[in-house]
Amino acid sequence: MKKETICIQGGYVPSNGDPRQIPIIQSTTFKYDSAEEMAKLFDLEADGYFYSRCGNPTCDMVAKKIAELEGGTAALLTGSGMAANFLAFFNIAGAGDHVVSSSTIYGGTYNILSTTMKRMGVECTFVDPDCSEEELNAAFKENTKFVFGETIANPALTVLDIEKFAKAAHAHGVPLIVDNTFATPINCNPFKFGADIITHSTTKYMDGHGATLGGCIVDSGNFDWTKYPDKYADLCTPDESYHGVVYTEKFGLGGAYIAKANAQLMRDLGTVQSPVNAYILNLGLESLPVRVARHCENALAVAKALEKNPNVTWVNYASLPGNKYYDLAKKYMPNGTCGVVSFGIKGGKLAAEKFMAALKVASIETHVADARTCCLHPASTTHRQMTDEQLIEAGVPGDLIRYSTGLENAEDLVADLEQALASI
Ligand SMILES: *Cc1c(COP(=O)(O)O)cnc(C)c1O
Repeated sequence: MKKETICIQGGYVPSNGDPRQIPIIQSTTFKYDSAEEMAKLFDLEADGYFYSRCGNPTCDMVAKKIAELEGGTAALLTGSGMAANFLAFFNIAGAGDHVVSSSTIYGGTYNILSTTMKRMGVECTFVDPDCSEEELNAAFKENTKFVFGETIANPALTVLDIEKFAKAAHAHGVPLIVDNTFATPINCNPFKFGADIITHSTTKYMDGHGATLGGCIVDSGNFDWTKYPDKYADLCTPDESYHGVVYTEKFGLGGAYIAKANAQLMRDLGTVQSPVNAYILNLGLESLPVRVARHCENALAVAKALEKNPNVTWVNYASLPGNKYYDLAKKYMPNGTCGVVSFGIKGGKLAAEKFMAALKVASIETHVADARTCCLHPASTTHRQMTDEQLIEAGVPGDLIRYSTGLENAEDLVADLEQALASI
């Protein structure tokens, strides 16, 4: 099936007389006739549900749709994008390990790697996504467990050379994890270019209406953990916290990584998505291809207008001819990139504040990638914990405005931007 069809029909096939829309199974627990039957579920000996922290049918239907969209073998919904990234990381890296990450990533994810996981004993080496293959290879150590990057970085809007990162990761016997939030599976399927695991903040385009937080982890099933049984011992040797199950044996390469993330980390950390939120997310997924195309169309119109404006010092949008990432974007996302544009404003921080206050259609929000156009000055909000040096390293200079194009009429958006820029 093509993506438009998967978005509508994927993940759930109703039988005769079943509800046409996915049912919301809003129940914490599930009833069984015998203790023996339930014990089989606890031992992962049988398929079924027993407690919604460890699995819920509504969430699984939506996860399955996202797995189909990405071309993956298994997926897990999480309560937020941050939870998806943390679980994806912590599933294969712990105390004493090292990881490699692109430096231009979402501020919260940067903090997980630079601070929170550091406190848990995991060291991260950040690399410029545009680094040479030699520089990238030099970042690896004996104890490196994975490489991470974002297809289109939020908010730097750098485009990841997925093949370059996958090649280096695989040469060092580790998987590449890609956060595909901004591109969505409609515009890019990182598995086709060698990524092994994909994460999403479904809060963004997938929900698309600013209605519900969520995340998702998808496994390609392509990374062979059993080639490195010592490095990925948790996947290849008995999990004593789970009745001695060996994930790679029990679930195969297609299921081991997600089964472990669910059986071990979701069980212990409990960052689940609620069934109602999964239902809302699914409504968003149904129209994803239609919306993503419109977001991209509007963003290109906005980027072209900004490029001509005398109060704008630079415009960054990978689909704009002449952009540094134009060729990479054409290779990985031939049908378009995303709806988010960034630009520099003449006059820096003060001008940025004045400009934002003058906007009438776009609103000031700590959000991106939904139906309503919104705008943010990261240096004074989402990224304010960073030093000037870290801001530059993260690709977020102090004069950067992040503008997330919604689904409104493009002429209205351009007129709004032009009057606000004129006011400074
Ligand atoms: C928003 C975002 C996140 C975090 O997701 P939440 O749903 O807000 O927790 C992670 N990665 C990227 C690329 C994002 O845009």
